[in-house]
Amino acid sequence: MQTNELYFTRAKNSIPGGVNSPVRAFGSVGGTPRFMVSATGPYITDAEGREYVDLVCSWGPAILGHAHPQVIEAVQAAAARGLSFGASTPAETELAELVRERVSVTADAAGGSAGAPIEKLRLVSTGTEATMTAIRLARGFTGRELLVKFAGHYHGHSDALLAEAGSGLATLSMPGSAGVTAATAAQTLVLPYNDLDAVHAVFAEHGPRIAAVIVEAASANMGVVPPERGFNRALSAIAREHGALLILDEVLTGFRVGPAGWWGLEAAGVVPDGADWAPDLIAFGKVIGGGMPLAGLGGRADVMDFLAPLGPVYQAGTLSGNPVAVAAGIATLRLAEPAVYARLDAVADTLSAAVSSALAAEGVEHSVQRAGNLFSFVFSPEAPRDYAAVKTQQSFRYPPFFHAMLSAGVSLPPSVFESWFVSAAHDEVAILRILDALPAAARAAAA
Ligand code: PLP
Repeated sequence: MQTNELYFTRAKNSIPGGVNSPVRAFGSVGGTPRFMVSATGPYITDAEGREYVDLVCSWGPAILGHAHPQVIEAVQAAAARGLSFGASTPAETELAELVRERVSVTADAAGGSAGAPIEKLRLVSTGTEATMTAIRLARGFTGRELLVKFAGHYHGHSDALLAEAGSGLATLSMPGSAGVTAATAAQTLVLPYNDLDAVHAVFAEHGPRIAAVIVEAASANMGVVPPERGFNRALSAIAREHGALLILDEVLTGFRVGPAGWWGLEAAGVVPDGADWAPDLIAFGKVIGGGMPLAGLGGRADVMDFLAPLGPVYQAGTLSGNPVAVAAGIATLRLAEPAVYARLDAVADTLSAAVSSALAAEGVEHSVQRAGNLFSFVFSPEAPRDYAAVKTQQSFRYPPFFHAMLSAGVSLPPSVFESWFVSAAHDEVAILRILDALPAAARAAAA
């Protein structure tokens, strides 16, 4: 048997940094990344045969836990029929209808006043493609070039969206990326999150040139920072007033925080934000593919029909709507019933409270950040409302906490700037293992 150390050394010889996505390299927590070989339910096993309770859940998709038998069965059946056809399949329409149904059911429950934001859906393979396409579509539809985004929000790694982004860029303290031209960067206007004055000011100055505002439905890539009451709704109103589109990025929150994502929670009044607003476009990823490479862009039919082949905005993909990925997505969404979301919420309640009391017992100043069943911890006494505040925390406390948990068999996100993810498979046994590990980890964070 090879060790994680050996696998990492070998990987670094043939893969940049030894990883295919930067945060996997453990750069901000130090130590050797674990090379994983299998996962089932709430557990994940590394190449040395060590099992961990997994609180990364593939960065979001695994809401049912890993390798749910019915999802695996659907994938195996689809794979046996052929891996990819490069032609349309009936299942793609089934998935589009399923997404539409879930989102409009929520709109109806809210009295229909919010409208049904998904009239049409285009499938792609990654969240990056979904948001990249959303921007091109918004620009093509409005005939304008500027884009407004928020500092600390991550929308994937397309050029226009890397400015002051969260997730891996926050982890690596990178303000943007080399290779993005100044001309491209200049077309993205970055504002502080939760700051409506800044939004009004940017529209007052550049309104007629702004094609779209893109926002994480609830931000979870600088740690979790929920939108303040009425923020998303106000963005929708301001964008509409100025003839710009609102792109709601639900790649991370979609079908995870609730049956119809974060917008669904707002529309149904679960989050007290008022039901009478709707985004023009929504980007989906992660859960929609149940762990397979699948994502989607949906929204108003008049905007979506601007996409080729009907409209002038080009977008395509050899593996778009891949039949195996679509099978995983359909199986996952069909299994993700209200009881699953109730379980996710309950696990998030238990764990966030337990971590908080373990930290408090050691006198570690922190604030618990929540958005539905997403949560994270900021090592500062006050809850931050934007990226600037998130960055002032005592982030040096996270690596020792992380490693103490890892040694005790709990795998956390290897960065303080990421959300923790739970699944409906996190049962009492898995939760107890996490609880048992907390006192020593809190002591390590206090040191
Ligand atoms: N948007 C959000 C909110 C995300 O969290 C992510 C990824 O974490 C993306 C977009 C990009 O998705 P992908 O990694 O599938 O390209």
